[in-house]
Amino acid sequence: MAGHHFHRPELDGYIGILVSAWLLYLGFDHGREAIVPLLGKAPSKDMIQRIRETARSVDGIEDVHEIIIHDYGSMYLISAHVEIPEKFGSATMHEIAERCEGKLRKTYGGEVVCHTDPLLEKTPEVQAVEAQFKKIVEQSPRITAYHDFRVIAESPRRIIIVADIDVAEEVPEAEFEAIASDLESQVKATIQNIAYSQFYVTPKFSY
Ligand SMILES: [Zn+2]
Repeated sequence: MAGHHFHRPELDGYIGILVSAWLLYLGFDHGREAIVPLLGKAPSKDMIQRIRETARSVDGIEDVHEIIIHDYGSMYLISAHVEIPEKFGSATMHEIAERCEGKLRKTYGGEVVCHTDPLLEKTPEVQAVEAQFKKIVEQSPRITAYHDFRVIAESPRRIIIVADIDVAEEVPEAEFEAIASDLESQVKATIQNIAYSQFYVTPKFSY
């Protein structure tokens, strides 16, 4: 066609290559837009903050952690751990979590899951252990926060500590295990009567 018009048959080939290159580029560009959010792009700090405030505004919720926004391009799936005092009992705790889901769903659309974390009443003994644990965490430059702190005591001389820890954003995943086991050794060396402790580093892109 073009080749025939200009009496240069090789133009057909060149135009074919140009069109193919253009189609390849379009495919790549659209593909990248669709795939990047699925691969885990960091959500905006502003949106995380707004979700935190919305969840905290629900009666009965003391705090929120591990907020994850799964961005599917056309919709969000938000998950969050909400901290609710255990004394409310499981039926009420569930109701509070559902209220939180409803409020977030109404604000952001998509689907929402509010996972319930019970806040246990802390005896003076547990408070004393937590104060020591907090000090260790504060002296660990790569650990930014902790939550779901529990003291499980088989007997006064065998204390078990469990908690989730957040690490600084720049810490690579490959170091998570070492950070958790370092903390375990420090806890064992510092706090008396520890049988063992166990720490879970919250995943990347959770806030
Ligand atoms: Zn949690």
